[in-house]
Amino acid sequence: MYDLIIIGAGPAGLTAALYASRAGLKTLVLEKGIIGGQIATTPVIENWPGTEQISGVELMEAFAKHAKKFGTEIKENHEVLGFEEDKNEKIVITRKGNFKAKAIIISTGAREKKLGVKGEDEFKGRGVSYCAVCDAPFYRDKIVAVIGGGNSALEEANYLSNFAKKVFIIHRRSSFRAEKAVEEKVRKNNKIELILDTIVEEILGENKVTGIKIKNLKTNEVKILEVDGVFIYIGMQPNSEFVKGKVELDSAGYIKINEKGETSVKGVFAAGDVTSSLVKQVITSAAEGARAAIFAEKYINGE
Ligand code: NAP
Repeated sequence: MYDLIIIGAGPAGLTAALYASRAGLKTLVLEKGIIGGQIATTPVIENWPGTEQISGVELMEAFAKHAKKFGTEIKENHEVLGFEEDKNEKIVITRKGNFKAKAIIISTGAREKKLGVKGEDEFKGRGVSYCAVCDAPFYRDKIVAVIGGGNSALEEANYLSNFAKKVFIIHRRSSFRAEKAVEEKVRKNNKIELILDTIVEEILGENKVTGIKIKNLKTNEVKILEVDGVFIYIGMQPNSEFVKGKVELDSAGYIKINEKGETSVKGVFAAGDVTSSLVKQVITSAAEGARAAIFAEKYINGE
């Protein structure tokens, strides 16, 4: 029996673990894969205060080490399938067995949204990628397309231009959602070409990607663009399916929380990218994790 079970070992979950175990709670973190969450795929973080440059992996390893120092137990490769309630106890269900606690914090983050076009699944790992940091070196001197118009798409297009000889950005509107500073950088980059008001209808290839079928939404013109790789950055989807119908979600599937990090279920808290909070940054996830742990402790102590 634990005081607190935290589901997900990204910035929110590991910060919650630090606060909870330091406050003396018997704390277990259950992680589907390995610690780190999405930020572990980021090579350079420059906005973690007090640290001018650090990789995502290094920062998350430091978070985990810090939490463990105060007694947090972390179980990797433990995917949580759901939870049940039995009086005041929460029973967290995993494929490897059930775990009991007085309270739960859900910090399972979010994952990349899929485009949903023909060829996307077929060529995943063979030209279709959701992680420029992981795959950019395979596209040295090749031609790639980045799909999307947010910060991620534009930042990753810039990053890819360090490797590829040509980067197309395909965006469905004529203006970008990305911050102006990021857009400026893209516009100044002579390896990047913008294709606006355009959608991808199909990803083409045989053994691997050879091109994309694109359609201009203003002229309805359809054409084939020859590319070696397609990087899809069209936003995120919360990892909340396992609690659907159990805790209240918003229309996009993010967990609704109040100013204490409480969900619609007593004793169940949420933090980080899986919540409906507007800003999705390491620092805001960490802050939400700390807040959830503080109020979980109060809940456990009957305050
Ligand atoms: P985002 O800001 O939601 O942008 C998603 C982009 O994909 C939008 O341009 C959207 O087009 C497009 N899109 C969505 N669905 C599509 C579809 N089915 N087909 C074609 N295009 C589609 O997502 P994000 O870039 O992943 O960023 C997520 C959050 O993280 C944001 O809050 C962002 O600011 C933050 N972030 C911050 C940084 C940073 O601070 N350095 C870096 C990366 C991300 P529309 O514009 O037409 O909707």
